[in-house]
Amino acid sequence: MHHLHPTPPKSQHVLMNTVVRPETVFVSGRGAYMYDEIGLAYLDWVQGWAVNCLGHSPDVVAAALARQATTLLNPSPAYLNRPAMNLAQQLVRASALDEVFFASSGAEANEGAIKLARKWGKLNRAGAHEIITFDNGYHGRTIATMSATGKPGWDVYYPPQVPGFPKAVFNDLASVAALIGPQTVAIMLEPVQGEGGVRPAEAGFVQGLRTLCDRHGLLLIFDEVQTGCARTGTLFAYQQYGVEPDIMTLGKGLGAGVPISALLAKRHACVFEPGDQGGTFCGNPLVCAVGEAVLQVLDTPEFLANVQARGKQLREGLREISARYALGEVRGKGLLLALEVGGDDAPAMVETARQHGFLLNAPRNHCLRFMPTLNSTADEIAQGLVLLDRVIGAHRFVKRLVADVM
Ligand SMILES: *Cc1c(COP(=O)(O)O)cnc(C)c1O
Repeated sequence: MHHLHPTPPKSQHVLMNTVVRPETVFVSGRGAYMYDEIGLAYLDWVQGWAVNCLGHSPDVVAAALARQATTLLNPSPAYLNRPAMNLAQQLVRASALDEVFFASSGAEANEGAIKLARKWGKLNRAGAHEIITFDNGYHGRTIATMSATGKPGWDVYYPPQVPGFPKAVFNDLASVAALIGPQTVAIMLEPVQGEGGVRPAEAGFVQGLRTLCDRHGLLLIFDEVQTGCARTGTLFAYQQYGVEPDIMTLGKGLGAGVPISALLAKRHACVFEPGDQGGTFCGNPLVCAVGEAVLQVLDTPEFLANVQARGKQLREGLREISARYALGEVRGKGLLLALEVGGDDAPAMVETARQHGFLLNAPRNHCLRFMPTLNSTADEIAQGLVLLDRVIGAHRFVKRLVADVM
């Protein structure tokens, strides 16, 4: 059948309609701020979705890109290149993991983690392939990582799902133990559930998972796509739990705005052989050169100390705001924090904030998430807290006005 499409009005763009976006078009960014087409400035606490760990347009990234762009862009994954070798060395030195595979997105790194676990199960556990994942967990948007994701409603998006991802309850060890069977090969989680509303795993829970994995011969997989790269105040979030994963994935902050992700594994889990995993853009020197430059900045005591100090400042400021307006819990780690605002007020607050030059995110209707750049200054955090106070205050005021009239 022939479908007639109405001609879109001239102002409309032809990007596929996959997300509800404001009309504002952003044209530049510098540090903590982004600027739109008519020159308005916005304090940005979304930062490319916890991606821009060094803020907008950092000089170190621009320099690495410029240098590498005129040196070697892409020799193909079939040949070695120095930036990939160097970045892999840096990551191995900085972490408890032993080998690295680079990819371009968090979902792609997680696909690699799933494949690695399944291959390991084929070799070591008589074909066991199930990976226990969690309600409200988030692992990406490929078909397999959507199946590993525990976002409500996502199981019926594109049926059928990829089988083999039973869901346990986060921070409930008994719910995990109950799912372990002969087909189980791994347990996969985010140390802090980001998209699920910034819910940190409890230390006892993570330690319990490690014990379960050791007892049953399973792999522990940490999806640190959001929590890694200094976001939570240590270079990797697992370092705060006294537990080491067998497999870890990184993304978001690793390229500080440039698309690069990584799959890391301990030696005993490195079972890929030639042909098992690959991709055209995997480990290309352009993005790896950026990763090297970014990691050199992140992996220093001064940088991590700033993330911890600004995280503490933000957390304390959020607690004051929560107390002033009788809101809910403040939770998270480092500069990945959330404020429970209750009801379904968060999207309206995000909209009010944006109209007044402040970019925020609501991962759920009842909470706000804060992901400022990791090199934020004390003044920038203080400015954001003032803006947030006014946004919530104005929202309260309007709600009371309306309640009086209705
Ligand atoms: C963002 C995210 C992903 C997906 O990364 P993409 O780069 O969007 O594919 C996976 N896991 C976690 C925990 C994330 O926050």
